[in-house]
Amino acid sequence: MRKRVYYWTHSEHINKPVISETILKTGVNINILKAKVEPQEAFLILELIGDEEKIKKALSYLSKFGDVEEIKKVIKRDYEKCVHCGCCITQCPLNIIYMDDEYNVVFKEEECVGCKNCLKACPFKAIEIID
Ligand code: SF4
Ligand code: SF4
Repeated sequence: MRKRVYYWTHSEHINKPVISETILKTGVNINILKAKVEPQEAFLILELIGDEEKIKKALSYLSKFGDVEEIKKVIKRDYEKCVHCGCCITQCPLNIIYMDDEYNVVFKEEECVGCKNCLKACPFKAIEIID
C-alpha cells in the first residue's frame, strides 16, 4: 500500500537523517515528493510504500521528530469537461501533470497531494477534489 503524508520536522531535528533512519528501521520505502528545508524548519511531502504494519511503524517513528498529517484528498477529472487546454500543467508543484505525444493532458493522479492549484487554474471546472 501507499500512503502520502505532510511532514514538518521540528527545528532541533533538522540535521538528523530522519528519513533514512525511518527506512532502515521499518523497512518502508519513502519517496520524497516535495521538500522545503530552511534553517528553522523543514516541510516535506512523503509517500510511504510498504505493508500496513510497516507504514504504521514508520509513521510512529517519524512522529518522534516532527508532525505528520495524512493526505487523504486526491483529484478527480471530469473527462467530459476537460478540453486538454494545458492551463493546469504549470500550476502543479509536483510536476505530475503533463502533455503526452498526442497532446492529451495526463495526470499522475496517484501522486497528487490535493493542493488544488490545478483546480483553481482550470477554466472549464473539470477538476474536483475528493476525499
Ligand atoms: S491538486 Fe493538482 S496541482 Fe495539486 S498536486 Fe494534485 S495534480 Fe498537482
Ligand atoms: S486546465 Fe482543465 S480543461 Fe485544461 S487540461 Fe487541465 S483539466 Fe483539462
